[in-house]
Amino acid sequence: MDLSSPISSIPRIGKVTAKRLEKIGLRKVEDLLYHFPSRYDDWSKILTVKEIKARGSGTIKVKIKHIANRETPRKKMILTEAIVSDSTDSIKAVWFGQPFLVNVLKPNQEVFLAGKIDYDEVFGCQLVSPSYEFPKRDGLIHLGRLVPIYPTTEKVSQKQIRFLIKEILPLVWKIKDFLPEEIKKDYQLMDLPFALEQIHFPASHNLLERAIHRLKFDELFLIQLQTQLVRERLKKQKGPKIEIKLEEIKKFIKELPFELTFSQKKSAWEILKDLEKPRPMNRLLEGDVGSGKTVVATIAILNVILNNYQVAYLAPTEILANQHFNTISKLLKNWPIEIALLTREDKKIISKKEKEEKISKSKLLSKILNGEIDLTIGTHAIIQKEVKFKNLGLVIVDEQHRFGVEQRAALLNNRKKEGGFIPHFLSMTATPIPRSLALTLYGDLDLSIIDQLPPGRKEVKIKIVKPGEEKEVYNFIKKEIKNGRQAFVICPLIDPSDKLGVKSVKQEYEKLSQEVFPEFKIAMLHGKLKAKEKEKIMKNFLKKKINILISTTVVEVGIDVANASIMLIEGAERFGLAQLWQLKGRVGRSEYQSYCFLFSESYSEKARERLKALLLAKNGFELAEKDLEMRGPGEIFGTQQSGYLEYLKIAKLSDTLIIQQSQEAAKKILSLDPVLKNFPLLSKKIKEITKVTHLE
Ligand code: ADP
Ligand code: MG
Repeated sequence: MDLSSPISSIPRIGKVTAKRLEKIGLRKVEDLLYHFPSRYDDWSKILTVKEIKARGSGTIKVKIKHIANRETPRKKMILTEAIVSDSTDSIKAVWFGQPFLVNVLKPNQEVFLAGKIDYDEVFGCQLVSPSYEFPKRDGLIHLGRLVPIYPTTEKVSQKQIRFLIKEILPLVWKIKDFLPEEIKKDYQLMDLPFALEQIHFPASHNLLERAIHRLKFDELFLIQLQTQLVRERLKKQKGPKIEIKLEEIKKFIKELPFELTFSQKKSAWEILKDLEKPRPMNRLLEGDVGSGKTVVATIAILNVILNNYQVAYLAPTEILANQHFNTISKLLKNWPIEIALLTREDKKIISKKEKEEKISKSKLLSKILNGEIDLTIGTHAIIQKEVKFKNLGLVIVDEQHRFGVEQRAALLNNRKKEGGFIPHFLSMTATPIPRSLALTLYGDLDLSIIDQLPPGRKEVKIKIVKPGEEKEVYNFIKKEIKNGRQAFVICPLIDPSDKLGVKSVKQEYEKLSQEVFPEFKIAMLHGKLKAKEKEKIMKNFLKKKINILISTTVVEVGIDVANASIMLIEGAERFGLAQLWQLKGRVGRSEYQSYCFLFSESYSEKARERLKALLLAKNGFELAEKDLEMRGPGEIFGTQQSGYLEYLKIAKLSDTLIIQQSQEAAKKILSLDPVLKNFPLLSKKIKEITKVTHLE
């Protein structure tokens, strides 16, 4: 048996157990070694019986004097009772529903027991359901120590997992430490095999802490090293050289119906300066919802096209691609630019004569290939192999966090295929990632932040609506709609479900259109509709032909309907905070006072507490920091996580000191040896994580 053997090769593991463990991703022996405890119970101090009586809990080493089963009078359950003692005192131990124990624990045997003492008026002082273990030559596993508690799956007990890991633990000494000696010395890091041994069965609190530190460092260091390698490599690549066409850009900005905010100007300038460099740009534009990223991107688009390169603009949904097609072609209508929309369902272009026309897919593809199309806007249909550009100069990805890891990888890989150079890359996100986090996750990207909203926006008023208060809100909405405003109603589900109380779009549609708002035009929008229908509904909503739009979170990203002033969210506690923030951002996009109503199905104080964070946060960045504190990064990113986050098993993004140290360490190693020629083990490790993080 070695590290790469299947876990079924571990002696005494059952077939069934192996199968169950496979389900939680534990396939190889090595996986099990890297299956870290989620916490530890401290049963390390061995007490005397006298001491445990005084303390109320702990581990004791005792001899069994007497043990027997007894039926409880009322509850029809078998009770196992034992009298145990050491030289100081004796105590009663009880177990419930485990009659087999009389065959395991026999009189006169020595045994370790760990657990809590219960004081009962009738029975006095007794040790309730203690765990037990017989003395062993090579030390205790389950008690009498810092006992590891593992994440596990149904029907695989802590004892089983602990036992298996103990079995394979000697294999850690076969693992070669990939960290260079000087790094270990600089940051006082434990050797890898020792750290792996100690994380499972720590000999002391101190050693455990050092083991955790070392393993966290490993994860963060490898990510840092990888992103810095990518960055260095990109620096050496050639990108299309894009001059800044200052006169034209100024003209474009002057003709906008609004004044750009300072933040917008700054970000636009950072992007233009970056495009000017002879290497490919790799930049993330972060800006809260409604901060006006589209127009900043359009400045970059215009500049690249004026340099005779093509641009591809990717949106995560068909609705959004359509919307961008409309807004961007409006913004660029005075410029001789050919714009196409390419989604699975839609293929059309807006020609220089400002006429929209449908076009067949093959025609569109050939126009993109021969360079007639300057700007292609679309969904990930654009990253299909069949779409080839003549001279792609810039790729823009809107709401990049909505693209899966695979798609991001496909994009990056596609970039390589373009002729002699790599196109510039601008990704945009409204997911408010704190700067510290962004630097860890996207260390390969440069960062521009729009941290200012256009002037004149009124803050959206948020109200948490408890069960029973809905009517008042509905009346208020009626008034608003009669004043000409529009409303979004968001539900967690499309179809009615068996789960009691979870609101669905279809149910709400019935209820609102028939009972609550029979006088208004109401429509449904959700992912199961055809793109054509979705577009029609969105268009009608934009043209104010629809008063209330009931929808799933497909409207979450990017939709821009300035006249909508109401956002009503059903089952608000089912959404992540960042998602709620995004939804809230769909309103408050004009001078009208806007409102966000959070309908909560839950009476629980805790659920409401969480929603309150939304009321307190001044901006998305602050909310994200808060969210990170409260629950960790999973919540921010939802299910479509970044590859990095999946990779982080033990390190947390709040480990700021280790993040900083690992960044330093990575820089140091690369300055000594830019291609890791002298660190083959490290090089191999990087290749492994590249597979997981999809970053090349
Ligand atoms: P997001 O950053 O969420 O993608 P958008 O680009 O959709 O935001 O912009 C939101 C709205 O704000 C749009 O209607 C846009 O025209 C408008 N807008 C953008 N910049 C400004 C500005 N400087 N002043 C006023 N309105 C602006
Ligand atoms: Mg947007």
